[in-house]
Amino acid sequence: MDSTDVQAVMDVLVSEYLTQGPMVSSFEADLASKVGARYVTAVNSATSALHLSCLALGVKPGDLVWTTAISFVASANAALYCGAEVDFVDIDLDSFNISAQCLEEKLRQRVATGQPTPKVMIVVHMAGQPCEMKKIYSLAKEFGFSIVEDASHALGSVYSGSLTGSCEYSDITVFSFHPVKMITTGEGGACLTNKPEIHAKIQRLRSHGITRDVNEMEFEYPGSWYYEQLDLGFNYRLSDIQAALGQSQLKRLDEFVQKRNEVADWYGENLREDQVVKPKIYEDRISSFHLYVVLLANSNERKVTFERLRSNGIAVNVHYIPIYRHPYYKRMGKYNPLDFPAAEEYYSRCLSLPIFPGISESQLKQVASIISEPIGHQTIF
Ligand SMILES: *Cc1c(COP(=O)(O)O)cnc(C)c1O
Repeated sequence: MDSTDVQAVMDVLVSEYLTQGPMVSSFEADLASKVGARYVTAVNSATSALHLSCLALGVKPGDLVWTTAISFVASANAALYCGAEVDFVDIDLDSFNISAQCLEEKLRQRVATGQPTPKVMIVVHMAGQPCEMKKIYSLAKEFGFSIVEDASHALGSVYSGSLTGSCEYSDITVFSFHPVKMITTGEGGACLTNKPEIHAKIQRLRSHGITRDVNEMEFEYPGSWYYEQLDLGFNYRLSDIQAALGQSQLKRLDEFVQKRNEVADWYGENLREDQVVKPKIYEDRISSFHLYVVLLANSNERKVTFERLRSNGIAVNVHYIPIYRHPYYKRMGKYNPLDFPAAEEYYSRCLSLPIFPGISESQLKQVASIISEPIGHQTIF
């Protein structure tokens, strides 16, 4: 936060609107022009945005939605909210993203055995590095599924010259504005699309399924007091207070991406190759570096390094536990960890190191020096 963020929020507090009003529209317009999408709907979280995306793509009970095995649970929960069935695709150990190759194999195998293929695929740009979208997009055309990009990590990233959010290779892109993400509104998210019919549906579902547009109405329009509820929608609105913060933060997005990339470069130059596997940087992509994930040699080493950094006050983390490992998903009894060898391997060895625009070189040196202490050199607790 800087003083311009604070001032932007204060200005709304003394204005005419508090909840969704002119600031929300203004923030949506700025976001649309920033990433090159035609339509933006700001909502109260990325979780809500994912839910609305699934609904707008017609996901209903009995449908199949696929996502990556390694993500925050919200990527999969959105499909369950619609009564759909969820299945996972294994990741690629170089990018930590969904493996386009595993996706293709899984799709072909389903068709060969006469089983249904997904209606919607939710891909996640893990840590801010875009997925192999051209490959996934061509599979979508061949197998007839829609694509939602869960770009909660990836505002400001670029894939093959195309800005994440432009929806060049998807139906809908979702961003999160949770405080840990690239920019924040406190809580918040957005759905971006280039398709007017999807946009209209998302707009309505954000606010109870209600329309005030005469052209959308089913019954005769009796007068200007009148509105109609056409769908069972929700209250997923963002407030003007939050939108003002988001708009102010968005102005500094490029600077945030730049600084996070400088931190990633620092780790790249200063962490030792023989101690951690560093994230692969792809020529055709610019990562937003929401996370900096390294792989330790083995799970035992990860645990020791994790505890050692935490006991020194360094807030490392593990992103993420494979979704199918959570009790809620395990209870469904239909996921077998053996089907996801790369996700299992990743989960046993991954460690997210501190990365944020304001991190100092001395803090980075401290992280690197603790990581470089030989395992077994220090007694934990
Ligand atoms: C943070 C996150 C979400 C949820 O975002 P909220 O805005 O907190 O609802 C969804 N998917 C991924 C991949 C995330 O990292």
